[in-house]
Amino acid sequence: MSEPLKYRRILLKLSGEALMGDEDYGIDPKVIGRLADEILEVRKAGVEIGVVIGGGNIFRGAGLAAAGMDRVTGDHMGMLATVMNALAMQDAIEKRGGFARVMSALPIHDVAEDFIRRRAIRHIEKGRIVLFAAGIGNPFFTTDSAAALRAVEVSADLLLKATKVDGIYTADPAKHADATRYDHLTYDQVIERKLAVMDTAAIALCRDHRLPMVIYDMTVPGNLMRVMRGESIGTTVGT
Ligand code: UDP
Repeated sequence: MSEPLKYRRILLKLSGEALMGDEDYGIDPKVIGRLADEILEVRKAGVEIGVVIGGGNIFRGAGLAAAGMDRVTGDHMGMLATVMNALAMQDAIEKRGGFARVMSALPIHDVAEDFIRRRAIRHIEKGRIVLFAAGIGNPFFTTDSAAALRAVEVSADLLLKATKVDGIYTADPAKHADATRYDHLTYDQVIERKLAVMDTAAIALCRDHRLPMVIYDMTVPGNLMRVMRGESIGTTVGT
């Protein structure tokens, strides 16, 4: 018998940077392998899982636009970067004996399935890990918004944002030694205090659908499972 867990279906948001490890670009196979192990540990314990992966380790539209590129073209490149990351995660999960499906918001039929909500839910119900790629498929959005949207669409009961720090702080802890961590915040506090955790559209969508969020440190092995057990890790955002 598996132990009782607090959550039945989760949506995990991994930033592209989470895949880089100590590199400053691209994907570190060791890091993606460890993340795949953690995802599979939680799946084996019975949790249904969707994952949204960012693309910031390869391209971000805003960065490309700042360097002179057309913003929409840059955003298309950013979305394609998320597809590459999702393919790498699919590979890592399947190498470990798990089942995964990349579903892309941009149709790329030779590479990934299209995102079709009912099909995504079916995959999740069958225990497959669905990797939602290409954000929401439109420029001027982020994968944070995609994570909130997909979480609501597939009726996840928790949105997790995996970061390199252990929650939301009063200020950037890397720059301000006196910054303190919040255990819990309301959605409106995150928005009003302009806490750089997820973009406002993502937070507002979670608020409107009362979808709880946990922001946690994914660099500590085992943390994902700890959140599933209901241990107080990181910062929760809710009502
Ligand atoms: N992007 C987009 N529409 C979306 C999601 C992402 O245009 O719905 C583009 C955008 O250029 C973004 C890039 O893809 O900068 C990578 O996503 P994001 O910056 O959210 O990745 P992360 O910071 O999580 O690695």
